[in-house]
Amino acid sequence: MSISGKTTIDWQKFADRLAPVEVLSEPVLVKKRSRDFFWYSPILNDELRRCFGDLVAVPKTSAEMAQCLKLAHEYDVPIVLRGGGTGNYGQAVPVDGGLIIETTGMKKVLEIGDGYVRVEAGALMVDINKALKETGQEMAMFPSTQDIATIGGFVAGGSVGIGSLATGALREPGNLIALKALSVEAEPQEYHFEGEDVLKIHHAWGLNGAITEVTLRTVPTRNWVAIMATFDDYRSAYAAGYAVSTSDQLEPKMASVVDARIVDYFPSLKGHVGAGRDLLAVYLPAEHVDATKAMITELGGTTDLALDDAAREQADIPHVFEFCYNHTTLQVLKSDRSATYQQVGVSDPADADAIGRLRGALGDDVWTHHEFFRLGGKVVSIDIPIIWFSNAQRLDEINQTYEAHGFPVYDAHINKVEGGGLHNANYGHLAWKKRLDPKGLLNSAKSAAWQQVKHLSAEEIEAKAVS
Ligand SMILES: Cc1cc2nc3c(=O)[nH]c(=O)nc-3n(C[C@H](O)[C@H](O)[C@H](O)COP(=O)(O)OP(=O)(O)OC[C@H]3O[C@@H](n4cnc5c(N)ncnc54)[C@H](O)[C@@H]3O)c2cc1C
Repeated sequence: MSISGKTTIDWQKFADRLAPVEVLSEPVLVKKRSRDFFWYSPILNDELRRCFGDLVAVPKTSAEMAQCLKLAHEYDVPIVLRGGGTGNYGQAVPVDGGLIIETTGMKKVLEIGDGYVRVEAGALMVDINKALKETGQEMAMFPSTQDIATIGGFVAGGSVGIGSLATGALREPGNLIALKALSVEAEPQEYHFEGEDVLKIHHAWGLNGAITEVTLRTVPTRNWVAIMATFDDYRSAYAAGYAVSTSDQLEPKMASVVDARIVDYFPSLKGHVGAGRDLLAVYLPAEHVDATKAMITELGGTTDLALDDAAREQADIPHVFEFCYNHTTLQVLKSDRSATYQQVGVSDPADADAIGRLRGALGDDVWTHHEFFRLGGKVVSIDIPIIWFSNAQRLDEINQTYEAHGFPVYDAHINKVEGGGLHNANYGHLAWKKRLDPKGLLNSAKSAAWQQVKHLSAEEIEAKAVS
């Protein structure tokens, strides 16, 4: 009866009691919904590919979501919230088996105002942006997966995206205006979080509440142009990326620098950008194209393409988003599954020479790719390199080379929220988990620290955050 092999309840009876909530119980469908994009990591692929849930529920309203949580609470079954399933670290994989709640049926755009949008958590970001465009607005930022990823998944699992070079990371003041989340109790309660309080739920990987509604910052839409420029060497492309990103006038929404060897894996750019050259991709308003081109020329580059959306579609070239963030990894993986990636910080984003020295120390199996964005108003950069995976030991050596050169690694090959970007336990998140999920049913396998604090009160857990 149990697809996961990890639970003992009667899932048919559970499904019957969930009616009229839609459920998927066919093993093939449940197994499909038990995966996300963890397979980008050969290490996570080994760890997670045989982890499955037992039943998928697809609520269409907040009341139906509450019904799913209430029943899971009654039966003591593990729960994993799932949006589009595009996370890269197995965030949405039901490691302990149990109930998967897919939110994509809760997809209404509820309200659009001047500078904000209020939506249900399962809305796809592409649909939110479509609705906003009709009012002359767009999301302040969205991930490159906007076509298939939900806003609830982005808020619970994401951090930055296209737009973060202008308006900062998702967690920065004003970007996430309000959230509603349901608790997992005998009678699920709806909690409202506003202003700074949204951080109690944001980026907690769905382990401390089921987000049902999100209010987000919007910005006026512009006539955006994608510029693709190429350079003789990576250092120059990086330096130009930093110059464009930090300029006071150009207002870029995105700037990415991609090693020429990665660009070779972008078939749709063949014949459009200089072969064998390092790429700078920038997304900015049309009125700044001439000034940007002049800056690129001055910094030794050649502008190969400058296309607004209409011209890009006519030329049959994919959106610039498909060559940035983790889409670069996807483009390479489409041709060769032995590639993987890493996430690496850059201590001094202005220091292009340090990037040059680092590249000299990294082997031929590491091809760098940088994204610029803003944190606390300052331009920062991260490296999301392609790594040709041979074994875990070599990956470790690569991580050590980065660290030895002063570039911190935010390990993309760990399936615990305390790994990766967070590095330390977030006791604030865990205190709210205790409040909203006292039985610890929500995605608990993803937090190593939860196992150590789950017996404490919410206040005792919170106190650890400041001790
Ligand atoms: C090619 C590629 C490119 C990417 N680019 C970016 C990028 O630019 N920026 C970025 O930040 N990320 C990026 N990602 C990661 C991921 O796509 C985004 O974070 C995305 O927004 C996740 O949305 P989702 O609906 O797919 O979430 P899912 O993968 O379904 O879920 C993500 C996490 O959120 C939880 N969750 C989902 N819905 C809810 C809810 N309603 N309440 C509580 N918890 C919930 C899940 O349990 C899980 O822990 C990329 C991934 C890929 C594969």
